[in-house]
Amino acid sequence: GHALQPQARTTRSTCCYCGVGCGVLVHSRSDADGREIITGVEGDPAHPANFGRLCSKGRTLAESARSLQGRILQPELRATRGEARRPVDWGLALDTVAERLARIVERHGPDAVAFYLSGQLLTEDYYVFNKLAKGLLGTANIDTNSRLCMSSAVAGYKLAFGADGPPTCYEDLEHAKTVLFAGSNAAYAHPVLFRRLEEARARDPQVRWIVADPRRTDTAAMADLHLAIQPGTDVALFNGMLHHLVWEGLLDQDFIAAHTSGFGELKQLLREYTPRMSAELCGIEVQDLVTAAEWFGRSPAALSLYCMGLNQSAHGTDKNLALIQLHLATRQLGRPGAGPFSLTGQPNAMGGREVGGMATMLAAHRELEDPAHRAEVEALWSLAPGTLPAKPGLAAVELFDALHSDKVKAVWIACTNPAHSMPDIGRVREALQRAEYVIVQECYAGTDTVPYADALLPASTWGEKDGTVTNSERRISRVRAAVAAPGQAKPDWWIAREVARRLEARLASPGAAPLFEADTPERLFDEHRALTVGRDLDIGGLDYAVLEREGPQQWPFPADAAGAQARRYVDGAFATADGRARFHPTPYRPVVEQTSARFPLRMITGRLRDQWHGMSRSGRVPALFAHSPDPALRMHPEDAARRALVAGELVRIASKRGELVLPLELSDEVASGTVFAAMHWSGQYLSSGGVNEVSLPAVDARSRQPELKHAAVRVEKAAFG
Ligand code: SF4
Repeated sequence: GHALQPQARTTRSTCCYCGVGCGVLVHSRSDADGREIITGVEGDPAHPANFGRLCSKGRTLAESARSLQGRILQPELRATRGEARRPVDWGLALDTVAERLARIVERHGPDAVAFYLSGQLLTEDYYVFNKLAKGLLGTANIDTNSRLCMSSAVAGYKLAFGADGPPTCYEDLEHAKTVLFAGSNAAYAHPVLFRRLEEARARDPQVRWIVADPRRTDTAAMADLHLAIQPGTDVALFNGMLHHLVWEGLLDQDFIAAHTSGFGELKQLLREYTPRMSAELCGIEVQDLVTAAEWFGRSPAALSLYCMGLNQSAHGTDKNLALIQLHLATRQLGRPGAGPFSLTGQPNAMGGREVGGMATMLAAHRELEDPAHRAEVEALWSLAPGTLPAKPGLAAVELFDALHSDKVKAVWIACTNPAHSMPDIGRVREALQRAEYVIVQECYAGTDTVPYADALLPASTWGEKDGTVTNSERRISRVRAAVAAPGQAKPDWWIAREVARRLEARLASPGAAPLFEADTPERLFDEHRALTVGRDLDIGGLDYAVLEREGPQQWPFPADAAGAQARRYVDGAFATADGRARFHPTPYRPVVEQTSARFPLRMITGRLRDQWHGMSRSGRVPALFAHSPDPALRMHPEDAARRALVAGELVRIASKRGELVLPLELSDEVASGTVFAAMHWSGQYLSSGGVNEVSLPAVDARSRQPELKHAAVRVEKAAFG
């Protein structure tokens, strides 16, 4: 025969799982039918996030990407809820979606439509959706699962420093002498960063780790000091530590005077947070709190790494602020190894913030409520003045609630599974059932949200699409296609743009400039870049050619800059109007749902080492089940004995809102009175939708992030029949 020799290719890309953003080399070749397949993935030795390292999830990317089982290969539509969806071609799918949305906008106004996106979309995807919602339709009802993930971190940085984004970089992991993990199980959730920390500690015996976490996670088990605080008492801990530092004179008074404001008011508040009082609130030994404060305050370089344990809380903004304030008062920032470093969960939580793809922001870290900011974006997008919405839209929890009250009629969900990940999912399922029109843009057919779709749009996924993501240290990396998408699956930006152009033809005023000319990821990125010029995240000098030539780069990267900035606020000049960082009073407030006689246990949630989110991708790799094969509720042996429960039996976990059944696992990693379950297991694996059957929809007033990490529950033997 004259079959061509199979051509092996290597494509540089970025791992699609977590916010570490590891660089990968994707190997592919064409099979006997001429179809290009991914044959292997290895760490990219040249990528500055991982220098060749990968964790278990990244190492198995080839396997998860190759498996086409359960992929959505063709658009599907249905006219009414009762009937089954039928396969259609793209033309009909796009026309129908545009027609249905246009009709709803014409009848009920633009705010009757909402978009719910994902921190796993690429920056270019996010950009088109944001322009479609705010620029074309004129609604700010566009939010994302990043609301469940990073919004308290955004609020914390903005309130303290005047701008979003961490002041730190990954190299700080190697320079830090004291590392404070707060609400972060980095050993599981950010494994490659954790490995960098382990190597740094192995080199330098002076390095000390403190972990504040109610559970003895693998990270906590390796700490020099584990503060097993009661769930939700983080603010009391940080306030108590700062009280001690004030008392001991370990503050940087010159820095506070020259570069900050508001310390006096905070200091007033701190008076009541004596170490004794604070330790009591936290349920820890006072000596441990004092030791933590000493290690932090006297350290040549203290770095905190924090994550969902602080963010996923109705007081998440205060938790972020109280921790940042420890750094500000002691000037533990702006130099190598020091700073408050919020680790992002999803691979592109940062990119979504950069394009302003959320209900509360505009493009390039601009504010919706600021008329000057709106005018700037209107000019850059050639919109008529007054087109952009002037008020924030509905954030995640409110967005699905508004389907109940009929304020929102149609929701377009892309690349996320709210019927698994939202708090109180029973209510979210009802909202989706009630909605007039639900569009689900997905690559996997098995998610808990897909059954609600009136229009199901097949998306291409990692390994098949091009664009960029921004990792936890503000570093923008290219994601590149190695193979063609299967069936009729299309890139997310393409789907959004095709619908947008159809809506534009119908809704835009005559003579309006076309908004969706950009037709490649590179052109979309160029449009996004233009909006950042002069802003704190200015990437005017960073185009695809630079990324190609010089590899991944951190922002800011202005056109005239010598290069990227690894650290921010090095000179003590902050991004507030007066250039001073701002202290805020952070009173401790307990978790929203207190335990009671009916619901006497605290349930906390977290992650497994080898799984990701609802497991739609990681669940395709058998080897990733070896570490934690089965779902479980972990309970302290004493609590189990008191209830006559034994290991392995099925238990029913109930809260005021709902219930689920899980096998019981006994473990003293949780304190008596607290139970733990991983958040990954969904309706694909359980008879229920998972832990969010019982979680509550209370949100933080400033960040609107829900309290996903704590609910009062009762646990009993599961009765059947
Ligand atoms: Fe991927 Fe995160 Fe693992 Fe790196 S640490 S390989 S980005 S999952």
